[in-house]
Amino acid sequence: MAMLIDVHTHVFPPEVIENRESFLQGEPAFASIYADPKAPMVTAEGLIQAMDAGGVQISWAVGFPWVKEANARLHNDYLARVVKEYPQRLRGLGCVHPVAAWAQVEASRCLRQGLHGLGELAFYSTDLNIRALGPLCELCALEDKPLLLHTNEPVGHRYPGKAPMTLASLYGLIKAHPRTKLVLAHMAGGLFFYALLKKEVSEVMRNVWLDTAAAPFLYQPQAYALAVKLMGKDKVLLGSDFPLLPVSRYLKELSLAGLSEEEMEAVLGQAAAGLIP
Ligand SMILES: [Zn+2]
Repeated sequence: MAMLIDVHTHVFPPEVIENRESFLQGEPAFASIYADPKAPMVTAEGLIQAMDAGGVQISWAVGFPWVKEANARLHNDYLARVVKEYPQRLRGLGCVHPVAAWAQVEASRCLRQGLHGLGELAFYSTDLNIRALGPLCELCALEDKPLLLHTNEPVGHRYPGKAPMTLASLYGLIKAHPRTKLVLAHMAGGLFFYALLKKEVSEVMRNVWLDTAAAPFLYQPQAYALAVKLMGKDKVLLGSDFPLLPVSRYLKELSLAGLSEEEMEAVLGQAAAGLIP
């Protein structure tokens, strides 16, 4: 059985889960996803339980782009704590609201506290703000840590959390920060197709990975094989978006994609282990 590393899971501090209503005020992005009491939320313990049940060795737990600094600090402190509590099982990505005045200071604090990168940075209601993301990309490049960014396809059906982002701005961000290891969530919004262009793009995307988070809701299984073919097997990372979906759902879909054993091992964990040991 291949090593399983899940690069995209969401955990929240118990305070947030127990009082989620009190965190909705002034947090439109959080409210748009979690105001619905049926939207699942788990603590690190809930994640570890699911990992044990699903045979997952390591998960990357990501933070949330809170508007309020106090909420960001609460969440990032929690991630730093649980990463130390479960050093064999968890990697933690700190998160900030990129346009906040305190974003850079808090992002540096996250990395100093032992978090392994930044994520899931996101703009859920506008296009990507490349200028705000710039210093965060440079921080990650300097510290040689990955930055996991929410991306989504610019066309197709609407769903909560789908942002009006463009591939042009995403590509502009990548091109402006060639030394930043960018992990683009949710199949990179489909950007991998353009790796087929004869000029520039595959070179510009040398430091870009993508994850499979939420793909069972979005793509037919052959999308995984296309991404592997176009980006390379070491660039496609298993990410579940847990607790939205369990890893088992991805194993089922990936088994239908027609990947070789070697490609499968890379996607399920080897490639991620290279990015964060
Ligand atoms: Zn996302």
